[in-house]
Amino acid sequence: MNAVRIHDHGGTNVLKWEKIPKPKLSSGQVRVDIKATSLNHLDIWVRKGIPGVPLPLVTGSDASGVISAVGEGVDDSRIGKKVMIQPLVYCGDCKACCTGKENICESMCIMGENSQGVNAEQIVVNINQIVPFPDHLSFEEAASFALVAQTSYQMLVNRANLQKNETIMIWGASSGVGSMAIQIAKAKGARVIAIAGTSGKCEKAKSLGADEIINYRKDDILDKVNSFTNGRGADVVFEHVGELTWKNSMKSLGRGGRVVTCGSTTGFKAEINLTHLFFKQQSILGSTMGSKSAFNKALSLLNDGKIKPVVDRIFPISKIPNAHKYLESGKQFGKVVLSYE
Ligand SMILES: [Zn+2]
Repeated sequence: MNAVRIHDHGGTNVLKWEKIPKPKLSSGQVRVDIKATSLNHLDIWVRKGIPGVPLPLVTGSDASGVISAVGEGVDDSRIGKKVMIQPLVYCGDCKACCTGKENICESMCIMGENSQGVNAEQIVVNINQIVPFPDHLSFEEAASFALVAQTSYQMLVNRANLQKNETIMIWGASSGVGSMAIQIAKAKGARVIAIAGTSGKCEKAKSLGADEIINYRKDDILDKVNSFTNGRGADVVFEHVGELTWKNSMKSLGRGGRVVTCGSTTGFKAEINLTHLFFKQQSILGSTMGSKSAFNKALSLLNDGKIKPVVDRIFPISKIPNAHKYLESGKQFGKVVLSYE
């Protein structure tokens, strides 16, 4: 069977659609015939090189497909079922896992980062990583959900404790996490200020439910935030951009505000004015992936039709280098998907 592997880090030329042995099925596991996968920014960091990536690596974290075989101890009525993959791998036994914090498990892995990924014609996963998805979703949509929904829910609810009627400012409305965060924040009853870089992307953010929009190429961000909040500033700022946006994130934050970040796409160095931090009683929160409960709660919102995956464009899996280039160009709104048919 074929899979996308990297043997070295580098440009899109290191992504190889190549033959690899079929994965072996053990007890408690299922084999999934993959129908669609989607890209995350994580795929780009992994390709370019971050610590802890085992080479060669099958890339990719998000997938959907059909169960084609089950290992010992798994009910064979599951064969033929449509599922998505929950990409967090955790031990289930440590202190963190036993207290519902699987995403800080000492042996935590993310498929496609520090354990083998999903960009393959077939994968084998543990039974606790497969999730049935609602009938109204296509395979492409189902493959666009897990990582961004789990990450966004963890940031907004478990970390920033976003409350009804609070104002949240969301950077990168067109990104996978941004487009999901807008919807989760609205489902929680918050007021959303979404930021994007083109008028087309701003309109799409509005159609996802954003109450106010800021075009960062045209608008003065601080003026806009002040006018939207009567000078009070945002209660929560959703960060994943890093160096380029950090200053404005901190300046946009009101008293008692929380900045929550899951990424540093534009650089990792940030300055903090400690006087503002303690005087305004603000918090800076780091977040990676999400707990099992964050995933399950996001899944309930999906099942109830309150949030939906946003698919921008679909590439055939054999054209994955082009899909990476497209994601890196920043032209997309939502997820870039890979199809296997
Ligand atoms: Zn654990």
